[in-house]
Amino acid sequence: MGFRAKKDVNMYVCGPTVYNYAHIGNMRTYIFGDLIARFLEYKGYKVKYVRNYTDVDDKTIKGSIENGKSLEDFTNFYIREFEKDCSTLNLNEPDVKPRPTRLIKEIVEFIEGLIKDGYAYKAKDGSTYFDISKFVHYGKLNNIKQKELKKGASERVNLDEYEKDNASDFVLWKAWKEEDGKVYWNTSLGKGRPGWHIECSVMCHKYLGKTIDIHCGGEDLKFPHHENEIAQSEAHNNARFVNYWIHFGMLTVDGKKMSKRYGNIYTIREILEKGYNPIALKLYYFMSNYRSAMDFSFEELKETELKLNGFNKTIKRLVGYHGPKVDLGEYKKKIKGYLKDIEKAMDNDFNTRLAMTYLLDMFSYINLNITEGNLSTGNIKFTLQMLKVLDVVFGIFKFPEAPATIIFDKVKKRQAYRAKKDYAMADKMRDQLKDYMVEDHKNGAFSVYKN
Ligand SMILES: [Zn+2]
Repeated sequence: MGFRAKKDVNMYVCGPTVYNYAHIGNMRTYIFGDLIARFLEYKGYKVKYVRNYTDVDDKTIKGSIENGKSLEDFTNFYIREFEKDCSTLNLNEPDVKPRPTRLIKEIVEFIEGLIKDGYAYKAKDGSTYFDISKFVHYGKLNNIKQKELKKGASERVNLDEYEKDNASDFVLWKAWKEEDGKVYWNTSLGKGRPGWHIECSVMCHKYLGKTIDIHCGGEDLKFPHHENEIAQSEAHNNARFVNYWIHFGMLTVDGKKMSKRYGNIYTIREILEKGYNPIALKLYYFMSNYRSAMDFSFEELKETELKLNGFNKTIKRLVGYHGPKVDLGEYKKKIKGYLKDIEKAMDNDFNTRLAMTYLLDMFSYINLNITEGNLSTGNIKFTLQMLKVLDVVFGIFKFPEAPATIIFDKVKKRQAYRAKKDYAMADKMRDQLKDYMVEDHKNGAFSVYKN
């Protein structure tokens, strides 16, 4: 937690395509994106975090037409729902949430620049394509060999998504087709709309400049999307596009790829409807590393939820703790040690899996000291302060209000009556505390909290 000079970090996360509710696989990206931004801020960096909404592409257009809505109304609905899910998961707002439909002028200018420099061409079908043979570094992110490339380079692809063995000239500006309905812009590139890949290059450039420190996205975006972003941006800007790529591993459910066929695509609202605490999903994700593929199951989510409940119960026990005012130097030292370990784990490529192991150990240690009645008021204050600092990064804890002084007094009275073996009065006091849970610890300490 050292203080250092504020350094700027700019960070871009490929955001959701807003044609549907976000599912638990999508959310893994945004949960980790949020965590990385939070951790860097905690480390003293000034983070500029951009996460876009893809509001025009094959899927959003298809969805809007099928639902008889304008593209704007259709995507606005899913943007609102996505933002509700983000707040359910306690994710911080990014600094900018750009939308390509608001940046058509910038997109057209960017493509015009690529044409002028010889990287792009207008084809007979009226669309404009990126010529991958002109960008000698094409394939560097995915290690696609030049030989494989040449085979496909004479082909063109007009789709937003395609496979690696289809590496070929990809579309920047799509000429209008009947299936696009009312979605088009009349520009110097003709009547049409932007392709998916160019949108991210333009938004990165506009809000973060030529070179980005950190660019994140799901592993599935590595090809073609991120390869194409590099080609477009480096060709246009003549500068390195990204210093650090961060790709989040894919999520399977019960050992299977998420798909409509298996009926295993779960949205955040379904997690809520099934009665789970959605914050448990965050803790569940943090328990494996962002790079690793992860297999989701409701059994494990349930187990994680119990761990999260345990954390929050410990916090309640701390907030409602009363005990002797002896200070234990070693307790503070031990807690500081855990925090250092957690920070070190996070410093090492955001190793949340290890950090969560330390966190669990730390909570066991805190619980033990509560039960032993070892904690002074100073220790309690210190522990809560440290947990709040940790929560700036992880965003998973719940901090309740401390019970009123009168509640503490009633528990003390009850203790005194019990010491005098006046059980009738002790029970009377207990009745007045019926909304509360009272736990007696060693050394005459206790915790009182609402259940
Ligand atoms: Zn992107």
